[in-house]
Amino acid sequence: MKIDLHVHGAPWENSWAAYRQAVWYGWKAGLEVIGICEHGPRFNHRVPFRSLYLSELDKYFDILEEIRLEFAGEIEVLFGIELDYNENTAEYYDDLLPRFPLDYVVGSLHTVRDWVVDLPGSFQESSLSGLDSKGLYEVYFEEMKNAAQTGLFNFIAHPDFVKKALPHLKMEKPQDVTDIYRDAAKMLSACETGIEINTRGRILSDVGEYYPADEFLLQCGQAGVPLTIGSDAHDPKMTGSEVEEAALHAKKLGYRELSIWRKRKRYSLTI
Ligand SMILES: [Zn+2]
Ligand SMILES: [Zn+2]
Repeated sequence: MKIDLHVHGAPWENSWAAYRQAVWYGWKAGLEVIGICEHGPRFNHRVPFRSLYLSELDKYFDILEEIRLEFAGEIEVLFGIELDYNENTAEYYDDLLPRFPLDYVVGSLHTVRDWVVDLPGSFQESSLSGLDSKGLYEVYFEEMKNAAQTGLFNFIAHPDFVKKALPHLKMEKPQDVTDIYRDAAKMLSACETGIEINTRGRILSDVGEYYPADEFLLQCGQAGVPLTIGSDAHDPKMTGSEVEEAALHAKKLGYRELSIWRKRKRYSLTI
């Protein structure tokens, strides 16, 4: 079963045709299920990265519907959206999301409190600037538990995204994070919130491995956290990158099934 539930079109960089191109590349690569999950509206003025505006959401879902019909019977197209979690916006999303024909919602921690993880320069001015890498992991995974408890998200994207910042902050990965991982896995499981293996960490960035680390994957597997797979492609040609390898990796770590979501309900597929 070859799936990729984390695909962007980034129409502000490419064009609106990028969604169709991504599905076409995915179909050509032999994907059976593809999930488009564009970055949704952000309500955090600290984040300088573009995402869909509120006023673009109708267009986004209309385009996806056209693509779904065009590729029917060839590849299943699921409708997703990737949203930043922070405590102030969860309520807003709660109101926003039922208006759209979503199959699933992806929760991301691109920001942790007033720190923008992806923006190394924002760390020193943030309230977390005194923390070492273990402290950052603690806060990051605490926020993940809060995100899970909102019940808004079907799965958490790139689940240990915090590690991306470490080289820029000249920090080593923390030692002995087993308890942090175990607590987070327990909460995800209790909230029926899944995670993904995100292959982008290995392919593009200086992270050099999948998100998340194997140890967290193992903890999540033992806790019964649903798992899916995503390439996080922002370029249509990258759709489906390494998703087969990621599925085999999950199998090696003890997973027997992957999850997809249709109309916010989870379905299991045998690996
Ligand atoms: Zn993301
Ligand atoms: Zn993404």
